[in-house]
Amino acid sequence: MKIVILSRSSKLHSTHRLVEAAEGRGHKVQVIDPLRCYMDITSHRPKMYYKNQSIESVDAVIPRIGASVTFYGNAVLRQFEMMGVYCLNESVAIARSRDKLRAHQILFRKGIGMPVTGFAHSTLMTKELIDLVGGAPLVIKLLEGTQGKGVVLAETSKAAESVIEAFRNLKAYFLVQEFIKEAAGSDIRCFVIGDKVVASMIRRAKEGEFRSNIHKGGIAENVRLTPEERKTATRAAKAMGLSVAGVDILRSNHGPLVMEVNSSPGLEGIEKATGKPVADLIIEHIEKVAKPKANRTKGKG
Ligand code: ADP
Repeated sequence: MKIVILSRSSKLHSTHRLVEAAEGRGHKVQVIDPLRCYMDITSHRPKMYYKNQSIESVDAVIPRIGASVTFYGNAVLRQFEMMGVYCLNESVAIARSRDKLRAHQILFRKGIGMPVTGFAHSTLMTKELIDLVGGAPLVIKLLEGTQGKGVVLAETSKAAESVIEAFRNLKAYFLVQEFIKEAAGSDIRCFVIGDKVVASMIRRAKEGEFRSNIHKGGIAENVRLTPEERKTATRAAKAMGLSVAGVDILRSNHGPLVMEVNSSPGLEGIEKATGKPVADLIIEHIEKVAKPKANRTKGKG
């Protein structure tokens, strides 16, 4: 097969692993920076160009679109969808998962467990918002944050009010969430491919920290999931319409709660912690399901 990986650089670890895995299985791979693609969106026959060359006869596209290039990256992906090329994750699903409010609403609609979450636009409702999620301690998250930056634990209502006001003054969007104390600074990353969790790791925060992100000094190791956790992770990925997803779960007293569904989950941490060749499993999945015109949305989203 000819596989295109949409990624800013072939040197990024996950991209490199996917190239290695695809080549290892006998495929031809091209890494394309989505920001350097251009296209005629009104042409009768949709086409894609990269560095003066038209991109032809692609069998599958693996999008590895970073949060900062979601808008243009998704436009490029949509063009491939219109060309009838199989895309591992489709643009609509990526857009859904990147918009945290939309993602929460979709998960809620599908009855998937989540921490109690509220959001509002005006600071006039700060107190009501805090009450809505059960009062302090609570977690306040910037909608644009990644790697645990922009996630704050407010231990008292006063602290929560101050943080909310500060975020509002910065004109930043955020959500307010019940603090799941019993998760004890850990969360679980479930790596979903198709309708299966192929690898899972528990991330534990360093002493004195509630965020378990590796970037915040957390450590990761292989973990065995309960059947309920497995089901929650695969249902969450399916609700978002993602074939490949990193579903982050908190273990609470009332079962697994989904925090986030990531559409470009990193491979380094999960492969290291679990010893599973996740990149190869992704390519294997593509071999099984990639067909021309197999996209569900065909760029219509
Ligand atoms: P990011 O997307 O920036 O990584 P997350 O929403 O995943 O932000 O939050 C970062 C970390 O903070 C999580 O991995 C988890 O350990 C902790 N955390 C987030 N939300 C909650 C919550 N509601 N209750 C308890 N811990 C939380």
